[in-house]
Amino acid sequence: MPADLRHAAERAKGFMPPSEGQALFETACAYGSLGPICEIGTYCGKSAIYLGAGARHTSSVVFTVDHHRGSEEIQPGWAHHDPTLMDPRFGKMDSLPFFRTAIASAGLEEEVIAVVGRSETVARYWNIPLAMLFIDGGHSEGPVTSDYEGWAPHVMVDGALVFHDIYPDPARGGQAPFRVYGRALASGDFKEVAAEGSLRVLQRVASPGPSA
Ligand code: SAH
Ligand code: MG
Repeated sequence: MPADLRHAAERAKGFMPPSEGQALFETACAYGSLGPICEIGTYCGKSAIYLGAGARHTSSVVFTVDHHRGSEEIQPGWAHHDPTLMDPRFGKMDSLPFFRTAIASAGLEEEVIAVVGRSETVARYWNIPLAMLFIDGGHSEGPVTSDYEGWAPHVMVDGALVFHDIYPDPARGGQAPFRVYGRALASGDFKEVAAEGSLRVLQRVASPGPSA
């Protein structure tokens, strides 16, 4: 990954360790030539920079979806809450200005396209086949389930479905993403092709024809 983009990603606020970011970049490079990339859970744009670097490399784009009001697990009072993200005018979090700064600083405004809204609502209207889908939005059971159900059907054959925060050991982290990842594998629609830290890369297999 180009050093300037890697530095921009490392400077941005977020929850993506460098080794997993590198894997995200490599995955975007591997799949981006098939079509657009979509991320669920933008936050301050850290992972979007890794994806955007891969999109640039393959002449693709990244749509990144977030209401920018924070997941339940990053609200005031929770361990990962960042008080500098509070907007006192509305008494709500707002990560959108941080995202804009991060993407502009990285020089990726042509490649990374913000979609601001609830993931469930955007999914209901979406009909663009995806070369790569990265699920990193709300990490509790309801949101991660609806992200899978609403977005995974848009992953094209041979495209990638990528999950973050997969912790087989409950002592390491929440289990909802791990359960949904298990469901994706059990569906028979996806096979696992790579793993790095808590990142898991699945690929859609062709659905069996009538004679199979
Ligand atoms: N991918 C980022 C981290 C994302 S944190 C990184 O690696 O840096 C999860 C994000 O999901 C939060 O910004 C939160 O606002 C968003 N989110 C949670 N539930 C959502 C929903 N239902 N619709 C849209 N965004 C949601
Ligand atoms: Mg994450």
